[in-house]
Amino acid sequence: MANGKWDLTFLYNGFDDPALNRDVEKIAQLAKDGRNIAEEEGSEADKVRKIIAMSTELSNLASSTFGYVSLRLSTDCTNADGLRYMDRLSNLMVDVRLTDSAWARFVGSIADLDALIAANEDIAVYAFILREYQDKAKHSLPAEMEDKMLRMSLDGADAFSKLRDRLMGSHTVELNGQSLPLPAVRGMAYDPDPKVRKDAYEAELKSYAKVETPMAFCLASIKGQASTLCEVKGYDDLLTQTLHESRMDKTILDAMLTAIQEALPDFRRYLKAKGKLLGHENGLPFYDLFAPVGEVQLRYTVDEAHDLLTSTFAKVHPAIGEFIHHAMTNDWIDMFPAEGKEGGAFCAGYHQQKQSRILTNFVGSFSDVSTLAHELGHGWHNRCLEQKPVLLTDTPMPLAETASIFNETLLNQTVRATADDATKFAILENSLMEATQTVVDIYSRFLFESSVVEARKTHIPSAEELKQLMLDAQDKTYGDGLDKEYRHPYMWTCKGHYYSPNLHFYNFPYAFGLLFGLGVYVQFQKEGPSFIPKYDQLLASCGSDTIKNVAATVGIDVTSVDYWRSALSVVRGEIDEFVALCEKK
Ligand SMILES: [Zn+2]
Repeated sequence: MANGKWDLTFLYNGFDDPALNRDVEKIAQLAKDGRNIAEEEGSEADKVRKIIAMSTELSNLASSTFGYVSLRLSTDCTNADGLRYMDRLSNLMVDVRLTDSAWARFVGSIADLDALIAANEDIAVYAFILREYQDKAKHSLPAEMEDKMLRMSLDGADAFSKLRDRLMGSHTVELNGQSLPLPAVRGMAYDPDPKVRKDAYEAELKSYAKVETPMAFCLASIKGQASTLCEVKGYDDLLTQTLHESRMDKTILDAMLTAIQEALPDFRRYLKAKGKLLGHENGLPFYDLFAPVGEVQLRYTVDEAHDLLTSTFAKVHPAIGEFIHHAMTNDWIDMFPAEGKEGGAFCAGYHQQKQSRILTNFVGSFSDVSTLAHELGHGWHNRCLEQKPVLLTDTPMPLAETASIFNETLLNQTVRATADDATKFAILENSLMEATQTVVDIYSRFLFESSVVEARKTHIPSAEELKQLMLDAQDKTYGDGLDKEYRHPYMWTCKGHYYSPNLHFYNFPYAFGLLFGLGVYVQFQKEGPSFIPKYDQLLASCGSDTIKNVAATVGIDVTSVDYWRSALSVVRGEIDEFVALCEKK
């Protein structure tokens, strides 16, 4: 194993590499050149070809430049050159968006797009995104308004979003006579000492009083602007718009939510069992959701993680095993925590260069190995997408977690199969703690956001009202799994996703992602090795069709509640095993 740092020279040799500046200038030039496509000379087919070529080049350039700058910043968050480049690129993206809208309007103006697609083989390859352009044109703002609206939003939802980041970024909590940053106090939820967890929770809740009014205004204003824009764009409501932009519809969401509602009693069984272990009789208090339980602490070196992962996949899907070996021995991964490096983990793919890069903060727990499996799953997904043109690789968020969850599940099941009870317990607890967040907490966030959007139609909800809406949402989801005395009325302040100016309901895709990945795993268990080529094909097609059609290629019907039930049965199995092990104790 190398030194645990990633190699980024496959993109650029540094911020002073002339190629980086040249590529940024090319983006500016392309955005300018492409804007007036409608007025140019030439046939419709030629103009469509030109749009495809320019859009392809823009995608590749944006991926390399943004990719390089954001990867550098992710391990060195105050790098002045990086921040300067990021600012320049963010500004350029407004121009790129305006040009993209101009292209959508042009494609939307083609009288018979189907005939044009049928008559030109090279264009037919891109039929899916051309039809999306046509649809986007129907829902786009009038050209003369769009520029002004985008700029006005800089003083509206964009400003409120930045204010929220500022407020939460500098938010401090008074605890034991000290003023501590919010993430440090929230991190105490994982502390082995029950007193530390409870004190941290109480101090955290108390701290929000000083920011609740501006935070409530931020949230109400962002949702208010989004609802107005949604109306101008001609959608029925904000959820319909979000689903449409995620290439799915309400039937699919409803099928998933029905199965989730049915599974809530199972999650509550898990929460109550964990509560009992920690000495709570009325369900788990919010501050103990992440409390460590069980006595086994599994530890791994990077080499042991490498061997576990490659051997796990070699048996089931050898190509993934080889891929993991390649990524882990060729400086694709920035492995360890370091000063100035961001927390958590991610994987970024570079289609043109056929490589991925992974950031993780490995300290050797089983959860860290599981995170590696997860991110390497994203890497394998990128590898499968490389066989498609870059414009057909844009995977909607609900499908983006398919390969990562598949990997995590396979690792989890493989290790559990041969483990002793104590190890099994540790792995189950880790997996269920996460699944509870991704299903139960995410569902509470979905219900909360729906009720805020509804309330905003008639008034600006106060902080008091938002707190009540959050408690109601927690009641409907966690139910008696959570101790009523200790819920979290301020979860709307600490989760950033509610405050994105352009993405709404950025919660259900997480539940979808987990359950779709699990459902694919169930399908694999049913079909065995013959499923593998279909699986890779599914991953490859994620950016070139609707979610329903992509799922149908492996025989999955995402509109059927039964499909979601089968995915949730994996979690139910884990809960049964967990509860049984608790009773043995
Ligand atoms: Zn992921």
